Amino acid sequence: MNTRLLPAIILWLCCALTTSAQTPATANASPHLTAIKAGRLLDVDAGKELRNQVILIRDNRITAVGEALEIPTGAIVIDLSAMTVLPGLIDCHTHLADGARDPSGDPLTYLKRTAAEVALESVPNARLTLESGFTTVRDVGVYRALTDIALRDAIARGDIPGPRMYVAGAYVTITGGAGALTGAAPDIQLPWDLRYGQADGPWQVRAVIRKLANNGVDHIKILSSGAVLEHGSNPNSQEFTMEELRAAVEEAQSFGLRVEAHAHSTQGIKNAILAGVASVEHASMIDDEGIALAKQHGTYLDMDIYDEECIEDEARHGAIPADFIQHDAALGQLQRDNFRKAVAAGAKMSFGTDAGVCPYGIAARQFAFMVQYGMTPLQAIQAATKSAADLLGHSDVLGSIKPGKYADIIAVQNDPLQDVHALENVSFVMKDGKVYKQN
Ligand SMILES: [Zn+2]
Repeated sequence: MNTRLLPAIILWLCCALTTSAQTPATANASPHLTAIKAGRLLDVDAGKELRNQVILIRDNRITAVGEALEIPTGAIVIDLSAMTVLPGLIDCHTHLADGARDPSGDPLTYLKRTAAEVALESVPNARLTLESGFTTVRDVGVYRALTDIALRDAIARGDIPGPRMYVAGAYVTITGGAGALTGAAPDIQLPWDLRYGQADGPWQVRAVIRKLANNGVDHIKILSSGAVLEHGSNPNSQEFTMEELRAAVEEAQSFGLRVEAHAHSTQGIKNAILAGVASVEHASMIDDEGIALAKQHGTYLDMDIYDEECIEDEARHGAIPADFIQHDAALGQLQRDNFRKAVAAGAKMSFGTDAGVCPYGIAARQFAFMVQYGMTPLQAIQAATKSAADLLGHSDVLGSIKPGKYADIIAVQNDPLQDVHALENVSFVMKDGKVYKQN
């Protein structure tokens, strides 16, 4: 043992003992007991639907699930016996903290709003997401750096309603790349938080990740290829080199953080997988070799195959810059066809919508598209529960209705295994044992 550490260890032990000694005094309040009667309950781990189940909840955790369980005296009983009960949904690709969606669709409008405005505009984004049945999100980047941390923490404190957020803090991007705020004149000096994640070369990449880790992010978002919704970017291009991507994954790992990589281009996808990222976002131009690599490395593909509907709709109304439409041409259908191939090949698939491209609160519309492009309804639901929890690294507390996990529970009127559109109208939402919606 390093003896120089001894005083610190003794101090820690003292604090730990003091804290536990104080616990009984502060934990006198009686536990909050809830029992949910579920007519149908979807066990996403076993892949089957159970009938007439009872879920027992103590404070924010599930304690027992089964048929004809005895309901403890004093428990609040919630009767969902006419509904299908599922674990809270998880969207692995959102941008909740980017403020209100601007009618022009141009990121340059961030220059007209302060960080405080953007953060406060994001409050309804969080509420709409939660009320639509998504109790957890992996939020994968913001233009105004660290607004997502503020939103995450405000939700966690209970100041505002919203899903449990796991956040990236900023985009790690090359200068002028897919995650940079581009399109301003070269002599405009952007404020620090609009260029926070720009990095060129492995050591700058590592430096940015060190800052983000210190700021308290939950994962790292790196931009491997160019983007659609960016000026001067091109989804066909590679941006970070292999050397930079490897440095990012290695540096993130040293802080216990996983990395997700935005990648549209065929080579950008392969580079990210080979560098060891946990998931590839979009994966639009993935080819057979890329799918095989993803399988081999156990990399999740997080493909946002619904939002093309919103991009096309906005293009029809002139609500998207012309160069963005040009980037998007043919990419939407190609991504959907490649999604079908990846599903057929048995690649790991998660549920991510790029919420913010479409209005907040309609992410569940993607389920029907996932079924249309090759998944069973059960597989699509597993992508947004069991698999999403695995991708986050939190299967111990998220992703299914099991004892020990957070009481994140939703219910719908019909049976989503018969008609997956049922998920578009969620009647009941509980997060952390607290009811946020009950129709
Ligand atoms: Zn995105």
